[in-house]
Amino acid sequence: MKALPYPLSAWAIVDESYSILYSHENWKMYNGLEFDENFMKNVAEQKARHAELFLSASRRPRRLFLKCVSDVSESKKTPIALDLDKARSEKVVSKKGRFHGRPVNWKSWRQFNATADAKSRKRVYDDLVKKSPTIRPLIRAMFQQSWSVHKKYGITPLRSYLESERITLPDLKELVRKLGSAVRKPFGVALQDYSREIKKAPPEYYDDFYYFRGRIFRPLDKIFAKFNPAEMPVRQLKRLGFNTKKIHVDVEDRPKKTPSAVAFFVQIPNDARVLVKPISPYTDMEASYHEFGHAMHATSVDPNLSLWDRESLSHGVAEIFSTFLESLVEDGLYLRKKFGLSEEQVAEVQARRRFMELFFVAFYAANSLMKISFQEKMLTMDEASELYAKLYKEYVGFDIPGEYWQLHHVMPDYDLYSPSYLIAAVRKSELIKKLRNRLGETWWDSTKAGDYLRQIMSPGANIDLEGFSKLDTGPFLKPLLKPEN
Ligand SMILES: [Zn+2]
Repeated sequence: MKALPYPLSAWAIVDESYSILYSHENWKMYNGLEFDENFMKNVAEQKARHAELFLSASRRPRRLFLKCVSDVSESKKTPIALDLDKARSEKVVSKKGRFHGRPVNWKSWRQFNATADAKSRKRVYDDLVKKSPTIRPLIRAMFQQSWSVHKKYGITPLRSYLESERITLPDLKELVRKLGSAVRKPFGVALQDYSREIKKAPPEYYDDFYYFRGRIFRPLDKIFAKFNPAEMPVRQLKRLGFNTKKIHVDVEDRPKKTPSAVAFFVQIPNDARVLVKPISPYTDMEASYHEFGHAMHATSVDPNLSLWDRESLSHGVAEIFSTFLESLVEDGLYLRKKFGLSEEQVAEVQARRRFMELFFVAFYAANSLMKISFQEKMLTMDEASELYAKLYKEYVGFDIPGEYWQLHHVMPDYDLYSPSYLIAAVRKSELIKKLRNRLGETWWDSTKAGDYLRQIMSPGANIDLEGFSKLDTGPFLKPLLKPEN
């Protein structure tokens, strides 16, 4: 190993500069603004080379080593990811349905489902799944790229993931299975009920998580339409004593802007950006609180930490704070005080949120177990789809074409990610319980809650998880299994 030709601190400044340039361009892309694809590819290439330079000189500190391996892998995947993005709107297209006058594609599918009837939804679902072979080689190539980069440095994406999530493989599997089995029954019951309400018929295999999410909150839209999703979370963060100046929000409605809310960490902790594109009032509010939770986290990290301690925020940690803030829009007292909801309206929100939460656990149990096996056994695409169909049947309860996972927005794009949502859900509930015990029901009005959160978030990757979480599933599962009302 040859030493770096300059100090590590200088290496880190250059590395961070590449990240900033890349994220800024990526933000433009998601925001529907002009962006330079070649510039992105070039920056990604430079970033990979720069990370390889470190890797050729050292394997320590361990967290920086893992970050560099992951950065090399991600950067090398960039050209394929950009192709995949294009293929999703140009090749995953069904002429069997139209949205805003155009054939439905991967990107407009969810919006189409929110308004279309059952017959056309089924046709489009079947048709889009049939088109999955057009993106399959790209998805495969991304996983292959990641496997080969990790292998070069004597590690696997799964090992790196478990290490940064601080969980063992058996514990992770057990956690996912436990959550999935716990919700199976109440989920099945609620699914029948809401299906009867929404589609006046029993649920079918093509009535997926996103179909229900797009429809279920409709009775609440009138109430939430009066509130601005870009303002409410900002006011909440201010109440907790956070400086929101480092969070930039864009609410413009551009045709090419991504329809779901999203947060970008351009530079941690000084530049976080949230995109909100208003689509439907309750879900926009929910999504905006979620993304502002990410921004709260990123802007609270101690600026004096090393680059790798600031940047290496695992997904399972990041999603704690997003879902944490999101939980406010199901907190009864909060909804009454800040949104002026009546008792009955609160009950309505909570019942519907509970159903979506049950669906989320069932769906992500299947998603997570598939991805864990996929990484553990390095499955082929056919094996992965076959396993997915089996797990979907087991946890969600329907026979579907297993290729469906390739049409998801997270499953094909990341080495793992899905299990992180479940880990975070459990930890988030433990965190809320702790705040409630310390500061009472209206903890969200207290700057002391903000102080406590900042204390948890500021160490970045050195977060003391044990300080508030034992991965006790109780606080998360109890209200789901036995709702109070
Ligand atoms: Zn998130």
